[in-house]
Amino acid sequence: MSTKQRIAPRDDVALMEGYHSPQVDVAVRLNTNESPVPPPAAFKAALAAELDDLTWHRYPDRAALDLRTAIGELHGVGPEQVFAANGSNEVLQTLCLTFGGHGRSVAVFEPTYALHSHIARITGTGVIEGERTDAFALDLDEVDRVLASGPEITFLCSPNNPTGLVEPREVVEAVVDRAPGLVVVDEAYGQFAPWSALELVDEDTPLVVTRTYSKTWSMAAARLGYLVGPRWVVDALEKVVLPYHLDAVTQAAGRVALRFTDEMEARVAELVEERGRLSAALGDLDVDVWPSGANFVLFRPRSADGAAVWQQLVDRSVLVRNCASWPRLEGCLRVTIGTRDEDDAFLGALEEVLS
Ligand SMILES: *Cc1c(COP(=O)(O)O)cnc(C)c1O
Repeated sequence: MSTKQRIAPRDDVALMEGYHSPQVDVAVRLNTNESPVPPPAAFKAALAAELDDLTWHRYPDRAALDLRTAIGELHGVGPEQVFAANGSNEVLQTLCLTFGGHGRSVAVFEPTYALHSHIARITGTGVIEGERTDAFALDLDEVDRVLASGPEITFLCSPNNPTGLVEPREVVEAVVDRAPGLVVVDEAYGQFAPWSALELVDEDTPLVVTRTYSKTWSMAAARLGYLVGPRWVVDALEKVVLPYHLDAVTQAAGRVALRFTDEMEARVAELVEERGRLSAALGDLDVDVWPSGANFVLFRPRSADGAAVWQQLVDRSVLVRNCASWPRLEGCLRVTIGTRDEDDAFLGALEEVLS
């Protein structure tokens, strides 16, 4: 038997909780904000044809130039303003590795996407936590207080996960004006919202906007995300990310998907309409509901315990996200907009549980 000691993880890693999102086997899964429907059959056929010609024995295009060019065309910028990676989480990680690290810090305004602070900590970057108002809005006095600590990166998320709230343009502009470093606006749900911070990106503004294929493009399985920002940011990130990190299949999938932009926009429009129906139906129940600019809705049972409601929904084979024990979100649950049938199953189960 070996007498060798097990090496311990880094102290700060040993203290971490890791990222948890239970994958429970249920009939109706409305917990991770994926698209309820797959991409079009024509996309799958077109991708299969491309994969037939794939040069499997060679490394992929390291710069992913065709993919970045196609993404750039979608947003009216050149490939030099696009950085693509394995999910927007890898984009966020590369940002932290490049501009964060030991002795540096990021600012987040809670409650927000848990991975912003989690990824920062994993990369050894300090986290400065700001608070939102009771209505989950940003308050500029609080922004000033937090930014006075001099974070190298300031994270915003619009629409914000898990609240669904869209940051107004004036607020994003004010944060960009005040931030001492780079501002990252996470727009994983950007296409569901009435405006995009992509409008504010230019060479002289220290702002990047991240997007993902995981939600609106119905491609969570592919792991592809990107940012649009100034070239100097993209150049710095390219030095840090692993060579050939983005495999040829993912690059092809991302390129081919963009030929089906109209179909994506049609799915988004349908989900936005369905969001209106679901929010209105929730409004008739004994729950508080927050207005959402995303493909999910945050709500809180008024006279029942949130965690108990979550379990009773699981018992009825409906899975939503349980935020009930998260700081600042006591008793809250978050439901992803599904198909009409899935949403009806959720609403029926919730009505039953609350009665
Ligand atoms: C879902 C989500 C992402 C997506 O991450 P991927 O790695 O691209 O799947 C990023 N940011 C937010 C706020 C999200 O909710």
